[in-house]
Amino acid sequence: MSKLRFHALKEVFKREPVDVEIPEQLSRLYNSNVFSIDTMQEYLTQSAFKYIVAAKEKGEKIPRDVADQIAAAMKEWALSKGATHYTHWFQPLTGTTAEKHDAFFNTVGNGKAIEQFNGSLLVQQEPDASSFPNGGIRNTFEARGYTAWDPTSSAFVIDTTLCIPSVFISYTGETLDYKTPLLRALQAVDEAATDVARYFDRNVNKVQSTLGWEQEYFLVDSALFNTRPDLQLTGRTLLGHSPAKGQQLEDHYFGSIPLRIIRFMQELEVECMKLGIPIKTRHNEVAPNQFECAPIFEEANQAVDHNSLLMDLMTRVARRHNFKVLLHEKPFAGVNGSGKHNNWSLSTDTGENLLSPGKNPKKNLQFLTFFINTIKAVHDYGDILRSAIASASNDHRLGANEAPPAIISIFIGSQLSAVLDELEKVTKGKLSPDEKTDLKLNIVGKIPEILLDNTDRNRTSPFAFTGNKFEFRAVGSTANCAEPMMVINTIVAHQLKKFKAEVDVLIEKGLKKDEAIFNVLRDYIKTSKSILFEGDGYSKEWEKEAAKRKLNNLKTTPEALKVEMLPKFMELFVENAVLSETEIEARNEIKLEKYSTLIDIEAQVLADLARNHIIPTAIRYQNKLIENVQGLKEIFNSSEYKSISKEQVDLIKMISEKISKIKVGVDQLLSEMEKSHAIEDSQKRAEAFANKVKPFFDSIREDVDDLEMLVDDEIWPLTKYRELLFTK
Ligand code: ADP
Ligand code: MG
Repeated sequence: MSKLRFHALKEVFKREPVDVEIPEQLSRLYNSNVFSIDTMQEYLTQSAFKYIVAAKEKGEKIPRDVADQIAAAMKEWALSKGATHYTHWFQPLTGTTAEKHDAFFNTVGNGKAIEQFNGSLLVQQEPDASSFPNGGIRNTFEARGYTAWDPTSSAFVIDTTLCIPSVFISYTGETLDYKTPLLRALQAVDEAATDVARYFDRNVNKVQSTLGWEQEYFLVDSALFNTRPDLQLTGRTLLGHSPAKGQQLEDHYFGSIPLRIIRFMQELEVECMKLGIPIKTRHNEVAPNQFECAPIFEEANQAVDHNSLLMDLMTRVARRHNFKVLLHEKPFAGVNGSGKHNNWSLSTDTGENLLSPGKNPKKNLQFLTFFINTIKAVHDYGDILRSAIASASNDHRLGANEAPPAIISIFIGSQLSAVLDELEKVTKGKLSPDEKTDLKLNIVGKIPEILLDNTDRNRTSPFAFTGNKFEFRAVGSTANCAEPMMVINTIVAHQLKKFKAEVDVLIEKGLKKDEAIFNVLRDYIKTSKSILFEGDGYSKEWEKEAAKRKLNNLKTTPEALKVEMLPKFMELFVENAVLSETEIEARNEIKLEKYSTLIDIEAQVLADLARNHIIPTAIRYQNKLIENVQGLKEIFNSSEYKSISKEQVDLIKMISEKISKIKVGVDQLLSEMEKSHAIEDSQKRAEAFANKVKPFFDSIREDVDDLEMLVDDEIWPLTKYRELLFTK
């Protein structure tokens, strides 16, 4: 193994930046491989185009004959882009994207063939879906799922394949993907938010949810990556001593980007442009070899697709540059992990951001309405937001002094805190003319139009208001954004509906609209205060304070997932027609299963590495020491020998102790793993993996990492952190 390590290092030292062809104006490439609105207008008849627009904007159905027309146009366009195959592109609950390619090519008899594609092929496909996770909904042998075209997200060509964004549904009608519930949640928030927005502007007919994600990732050279079975099989290093230099100097953050990496980023950006991913920002992150990219925000469904696509693209492009992209939340212990901040807001078809303060008191009241309702929603349903971001890999990051804790709270900054304090004093019931004027002019009217530059930043909060949007920071870097977006939009939709009902009741009782709104908002501020926190989210004090406030601190994935099955949360999704009870149960089962499987794989890899790589290496080195000590004994007299050999004999003893501790640890790990496997109930099984199996990871690692410091570097089999993180 150590041969492999040194061979890989040699490879890396020889690497040169890979040339990338960069067009003069990147923006010209934008959407060039997308069947975008503009392209559709060019390729479709007027009437077919109208149907597509209605489907995109209002979710209206597309008749079959129109689908035929669209398919023909799509095929013509795709062929012009060099496509030979088409696929329904979807996001099953495995967490990656899935595709099954079919050729346009079809035989038509007489030895002839044509390129064929029609409406029914566009609308529906039947992948052999029996191996996608379904949480027990389908018996694999009897029923299959199908994919159905999602016209709200645009089709695109990658290489020679036309990809058609789709949803994935079982024959019994249950959703088996990330996207369908998201679409339903977006519909729910559209309806609820439109109703509320119309208190302020009768012209609003639609509200869209917007998402701007920020993707963090690590790059390591592929030769080095291939020397680490743990990276290959689990996406993270299970072993490895911290290098003398980590991120202490913080010299990487926003530093200059090495040329090899710049080339990778440039090619990625070119590919993103072609696929319409509006990538805008790139920079170094805090940890060595850690980077971030972010697009301009988009409508949430499109943004979710674009993030999934980006993660695929990164992997493809990295290959050409001899890099491996690590999307795992915590590939390396001791340096920062990776997240994916989800910037979220709501915007109207009249072009307004509902979370942006406006030019006058009326617009500001609208802003406060959506702002406070979001706070109330997170207060009432924070635990389900926590469970939406739960995964084995994100567990390493949350609460680890680099990412928000597993306690959900909201940061709003001192200016807005002061505004809420004032609003809390609003009189119950009818307001006097003086109070109304005072409210309008001095409180609501004083919210600065541009909060952006004034909002204080608090990096330790999981859910922060950043001037004109909320930033959900606890999302992990591997996550599909659909899940957190589905949850945020559902809880806000639910809350806005309640709000509308409460305000309408007060109006019926004779209050003016503004009075009614102030009254309800005042009550919300009072009842949801406990979710607001402006202090240091990383501190121990906050954990204590949060417990006093009765905010949950769900530290592990199994704990967080338990929440999904509580009646309060099940009702939330059922009532808002986002998920059915069966779907909730199935999804919960899938997530628990995935968690246990991941810990199980990590345990096996760790056991293998410890037993078959580390212990033999340590013994080899120990034997060398023993030989040497024996030699010393032959040369020197007994008292000289004793003093000369003392250090080495101690080292031999130390190595023996470490070896036996590792051996015992691995045996216990494997025995706990066996026991956990045998547990039938998936919740209990996941808990056993979390609480019985996983704790051995740290104790075994500690001893192995100590050995790394004792054993001769020449024979150490695993590529070291220093080499993984600092070789450029
Ligand atoms: P940072 O959080 O790193 O300081 P910014 O605040 O400038 O960066 O923006 C981060 C992300 O927020 C970007 O992807 C941006 O497109 C997105 N964003 C900005 N406005 C909105 C909005 N109204 N809705 C959703 N995302 C938004
Ligand atoms: Mg950010």
